[in-house]
Amino acid sequence: MKASQFLISTLKEAPADAEVASHRLMMRAGMIKKLGAGIYTYMPMGLRVIRKVEAIVREEMNRAGAVELTMPVVQPAELWQESGRFQAYGPELLRIKDRHERDFVVQPTSEEAITDIGRQELRSYRQLPKNLYQIQTKFRDERRPRFGLMRGREFVMKDAYSFDRDLEAAKRSYQQMGQAYRAIFDRFGLRYRAVAADSGAIGGDVSQEFQVIAATGEDAIVYCPDSEYAANMEKAEALAPAGPRAAAAQAMTRVPTPGKATCEDVAQLLGVALTTTVKSLVLATDQHDDRGNVVKTQVWLLLVRGDHGLNEIKAGKVPGLDGFRFATVPEIEAHFGTKPGYLGPIGLKQPVKIVADREVALMADWICGANEEDYHLTGVNWGRDLPEPDTVADLRNVVEGDLSPDGKGRLAIERGIEVGHIFVLGTKYSVPMNATFLDEDGKPKPFQMGCYGIGITRLPAAAIEQNNDERGIIWPDAIAPFTVVLCPIGMDRSADVKAAAEKLHDELAAAGIDVMLDDRGERPGAMFADWELIGVPHRVVISDRGLKEGQLEYQHRRDTAASKVAVGEVLDFLR
Ligand code: ATP
Ligand code: MG
Ligand code: MG
Ligand code: MG
Repeated sequence: MKASQFLISTLKEAPADAEVASHRLMMRAGMIKKLGAGIYTYMPMGLRVIRKVEAIVREEMNRAGAVELTMPVVQPAELWQESGRFQAYGPELLRIKDRHERDFVVQPTSEEAITDIGRQELRSYRQLPKNLYQIQTKFRDERRPRFGLMRGREFVMKDAYSFDRDLEAAKRSYQQMGQAYRAIFDRFGLRYRAVAADSGAIGGDVSQEFQVIAATGEDAIVYCPDSEYAANMEKAEALAPAGPRAAAAQAMTRVPTPGKATCEDVAQLLGVALTTTVKSLVLATDQHDDRGNVVKTQVWLLLVRGDHGLNEIKAGKVPGLDGFRFATVPEIEAHFGTKPGYLGPIGLKQPVKIVADREVALMADWICGANEEDYHLTGVNWGRDLPEPDTVADLRNVVEGDLSPDGKGRLAIERGIEVGHIFVLGTKYSVPMNATFLDEDGKPKPFQMGCYGIGITRLPAAAIEQNNDERGIIWPDAIAPFTVVLCPIGMDRSADVKAAAEKLHDELAAAGIDVMLDDRGERPGAMFADWELIGVPHRVVISDRGLKEGQLEYQHRRDTAASKVAVGEVLDFLR
């Protein structure tokens, strides 16, 4: 490929709404372009990365015996009514009407459509097991689309679905997918962890998330460095023995309060920016009488929750919290005239803005809200003598240093980006949708199903979170838009440079290497800066001076200096 033919659109500045490195760099490198909130065009440079992700996923899915198909993006509501999800899904499901006022949905995932295929096509146990997958556009009307491709509304997911005779067989299909996922994520060259996830009604060890390790990840994962134990926070919490923190959480009641203040409202009121990492700026407010009426609004506090551990926040490891200073316990005591209970940690941005009264010491049973839309917590209190808590809304029962459930060591907590999720579904869809096959005994039985997702367009963002520096992206070879970039110096002036560059381009291309020749005639500085931003891992510079010695200059994106390679050896060197 030649740069003059391609579309390269790098930017000096990232847009203001780009808060994390991957979003900033994908915008600056011209990989994506925003069309609407959470809706992006995959520009030619970005699409090449996505295609490589897809190719790896497709190859490993096929190797694992899965079969590809493509299901419609727009699906009739009737199917979704059969499973009950048309009602149950909530506002993330985009519902649309056609000209005849018939309801449709835009697929957020495709269990219904595949179950419909299964019940029509898989009639006998002889046809089982089957695993069908697609790599296709999804739409979820996320409440807060953000971080570019990381949490888009329109995105691409690989979703696979398995059909089995019984639960044992379904678990085997699930295990097989687990292996395929490891093969896939190994090939991307990223640091990741497979963690146990909550499997809801089915129970048992039948759901795993694949989490790419990154400080900006939205999920907290719990693992034991001395053993195999790894789980997402939800799952770890569910299994943890009830301690004082759980007791405190139980003392609080979650009450529906639709239409009450949200985090955004509170942040606006306090005049602070609601950063993405501060998931739940929480306010403590409103004293209620026993009929639930607001007696008076007392204090607005800025509580920093997030899923971040207190120590993480204190250590300044949480981006977006730089503006916050944590009040010391004596400060809080002096301020409120009482001991802080588990309402902390309290992030006081200086100067803290406290609206209304200061009668905290006299109060009990706070209503504590805005950490979750349409819900508030009651029973929140000061002065309760509890160990140092991490959060308000989900007072953690699991903290760093706790004994691992397998007893083999202490727990550590880190942040992750969910890039894949595998799940045994059981008969969750086959029973309500009456999807059965004839078993060996001649009787109809519902399929035991599984589902397996990979965030195709989220993956490049996760890769960048792990691989970037002040100059730009550093792609792992496996998913780089181009593997090698040829940068000729003075191509327009020197016939030798032009000839050598074109020859090398053709040789590398013929050898199956994804090569880009920058023939735009840019000055070296600008040309290098572009490719460092875009993150092509291997660069070869062709210059008159080098050619006189029969040499080219090679530099890996992570190298600090170039090294010389003989013209005749460069192909072998890069292969
Ligand atoms: P999350 O917890 O991030 O909201 P999820 O658990 O809702 O994700 P799944 O239903 O498990 O997502 O979907 C499978 C995969 O699709 C996820 O593991 C993730 O990689 C990807 N994915 C989900 N939502 C989005 C999104 N809004 N943008 C990009 N990728 C997404
Ligand atoms: Mg989600
Ligand atoms: Mg999730
Ligand atoms: Mg998931």
